[in-house]
Amino acid sequence: MMFRIGQGFDLHRTVSGRPLRLGGVTIPTDNWGLDGHSDADALLHAITDAFLGALALGDIGQMFPDNDPRSLNADSRELLKAALARPEFQGWTLCNLDCTVFAEAPKLAPHKTAIRESLAGLLSCPMERISVKAKTNEKQDAIGAGKAIAAAAIILLEKN
Ligand code: MG
Repeated sequence: MMFRIGQGFDLHRTVSGRPLRLGGVTIPTDNWGLDGHSDADALLHAITDAFLGALALGDIGQMFPDNDPRSLNADSRELLKAALARPEFQGWTLCNLDCTVFAEAPKLAPHKTAIRESLAGLLSCPMERISVKAKTNEKQDAIGAGKAIAAAAIILLEKN
């Protein structure tokens, strides 16, 4: 049995007039979301980087450069799927994913189950292997001022 661990982190600035996407779920807001070349789903970007990192395959920016018109406004679920479709992932199984979203607003507690369901579907694994946590930044720094949202993810892969 072989194991590989991977971690990822991402941060996007908040901006008005875009939907807030986290973990592939649209979170209701007062008409604001995250700025970025793709749909700016910081949680999915952190998770994608965790998978790429586990197998030392670089990072999401290498796979999908932010000047690539193919990823303009891209659904980050498709970016994650494209990363996991790489042949290097054949034979590897996700043991578990643990992630944290850092956001002063909105409150994510009511959305955690929907995010876990979304991630379990994307990763084709039981929800029990997916943990989603949320924290504020105690009103400190850009995240605490509501100017950005960040996400961190860690995964464990196993191969027989
Ligand atoms: Mg990103």
